[in-house]
Amino acid sequence: MIVILLGPPGAGKGTQAARLEKSYGLKQLSTGDMLRAAVAAGTPLGLQAKAKMDSGGLVSDELVVKIIEDRMKQADCANGFILDGFPRTVPQAEALDKMLSGLGRSLNAVIEVTLPDAVLVERITGRFACKSCGAGYHDVFKRPEKDGVCDVCGGTEFVRRKDDTAETVQARLDAYRTQTEPLLPYYKAKGILLRVDGGQAIDVVAEEIDKAIGVNERA
Ligand code: ADP
Ligand code: AMP
Repeated sequence: MIVILLGPPGAGKGTQAARLEKSYGLKQLSTGDMLRAAVAAGTPLGLQAKAKMDSGGLVSDELVVKIIEDRMKQADCANGFILDGFPRTVPQAEALDKMLSGLGRSLNAVIEVTLPDAVLVERITGRFACKSCGAGYHDVFKRPEKDGVCDVCGGTEFVRRKDDTAETVQARLDAYRTQTEPLLPYYKAKGILLRVDGGQAIDVVAEEIDKAIGVNERA
């Protein structure tokens, strides 16, 4: 199964993609995570992407298409994957269609996770993650069960993203509205677009996504 989680920054895509990976073995492919890893490693690709990411703009289509193309051919994607943060422009979506047809695969569903801008800002500015395993948390909405200790790996160091500031949020939301929202009619025309209200509790959003894509933990 191949599913796209589409939605503005902070809508909950990463939270739900990580859960789908854990519950159903569908690999989470986050272009944001891949680019941050490249920046941290100081690779040529990371150096190219860094300035755009810091300012809240989008990295070039060519660069992200190349990373995702290499990634989806790896063995751990054979069972299916969840695209989180890709595609973000119509040319990226067109490139994805070509890549998938070249692999003899196709998209099962595109889930749009919606949320009003005011809530997105609150979500983004309160976000943090475990430094060791990357598990995501929020200052108000998703604190670790034991303060200062990661629920998943027991790590005690946490990090905040450099671009999760009130200053870059507006640029990121603008990029979403102008460059990514045109994907909604693109996928609607293909008859595979579904919508979930991301303003509900994490478990409720999870249930609705599972229902929309036809998976069930008890099945
Ligand atoms: P995205 O990947 O779409 O940018 P995240 O999954 O990282 O968004 O979620 C943004 C922040 O909001 C994180 O701190 C996460 O813990 C929190 N969060 C995610 N889903 C919900 C939800 N349904 N209710 C409240 N907080 C949430
Ligand atoms: P994310 O983790 O999805 O919020 O992405 C963080 C940043 O990485 C974005 O603000 C962009 O600068 C860059 N990025 C991630 N995915 C893409 C993509 N598909 N196309 C262009 N830029 C991307």
